Amino acid sequence: MKMKGKRNGWIIPALIIVLAAGSAGGFFAGENAAASRYQAQREKEILLNRSQWDGLGEIEGPICVTGHKSPDSDTVGSAIAYAALLRALGYDAQPVVLGSVNHETQYILDAAGLDAPPLLEDASGCNMALVDHSEYLQSADGLQDAHIISIIDHHGDGTVQTGNQLIYDARPLGATATIIWLRYRDAGLSPDKQTALMMTGAILSDTKNLQSEATTFADREALRELSGIAGIADTDAFYSEMYKALLSYEGMTDEEIYFSDYKEYETEGRKFGIACMKVYDEESAKDLAERMKAILPSVVASAGMDMAFVMIGISHDDLSIAYLVPSDDAAAEVLEAAFGETALFDGTSYVLSPGISRKTVMVPAITDVLKARPVE
Ligand code: MN
Ligand code: MN
Repeated sequence: MKMKGKRNGWIIPALIIVLAAGSAGGFFAGENAAASRYQAQREKEILLNRSQWDGLGEIEGPICVTGHKSPDSDTVGSAIAYAALLRALGYDAQPVVLGSVNHETQYILDAAGLDAPPLLEDASGCNMALVDHSEYLQSADGLQDAHIISIIDHHGDGTVQTGNQLIYDARPLGATATIIWLRYRDAGLSPDKQTALMMTGAILSDTKNLQSEATTFADREALRELSGIAGIADTDAFYSEMYKALLSYEGMTDEEIYFSDYKEYETEGRKFGIACMKVYDEESAKDLAERMKAILPSVVASAGMDMAFVMIGISHDDLSIAYLVPSDDAAAEVLEAAFGETALFDGTSYVLSPGISRKTVMVPAITDVLKARPVE
């Protein structure tokens, strides 16, 4: 009796609901059922994805998450993001780097209000998660004696091997940060604002603002969602600032900049040097040209050259310009003879657009002029 009463008590309201739904239109009832089936399926997928981690069992001690040596923005952003995901899943994980970060990555860290991860000098005995690489040569010293629990990468499979079970996720996407974004989704989680900003910078950097051939639909979707979480409304503008930072020579002396990409040549017994540098815009080019003009006499002397040239290049989007700065009047005459017909002299530099290559255009042209004008 009791059972029956209970059953009746359940059936009658249910019938009313069904009848009410029927009178409102079967369409809505069907849609609700589909939505709840989808929700149940989604929750099951999240459980399935989270259970991947259970197989690793108890991990003793913290996990260090590292990208490759000579860290770039994808390597650093992915290490920060993957460590945060591991922490959200209950693991004790921290990002590390294998060298000092470049100016672009520092710009993204500053925008996120984060410090660069600490330097890992030796991975021996550590629990390691590798991101953005799987080559011993590119990885931490001591990795052979480490416990590798995970590799997340978008390069070919490298030399790193481990006998134990691990999470190895390699996908042909534009950035490792995009794979990590997909892993967040699989786990039913979202990165916080700072982490999302690091991932935004990582994807912009590796895909060259979605322009590289390796860019996929997943990279676009990841960038759209992550930049939203990060509060970056204009990703083009953010990428421009990143790129400017990458090309900035902040913290270097003018001499260090001069010799950072410098080559020497000799023809007809005369020696000349050519120093190349890259900047983002014309203002930076003109500023750098003035600074180079000021140090040229002393660096020409210290290198034992007869003359030297500085080439400052701008090359991105539709811009292609070269600013050629001569060391003295004799060098200026050489540039006048080599490029006078196409270049415009702005008082400091001979300006050529489109820009030219040091190897295939500048050196042969200067060599030809010097050969045609033997020393008296
Ligand atoms: Mn990388
Ligand atoms: Mn990468």
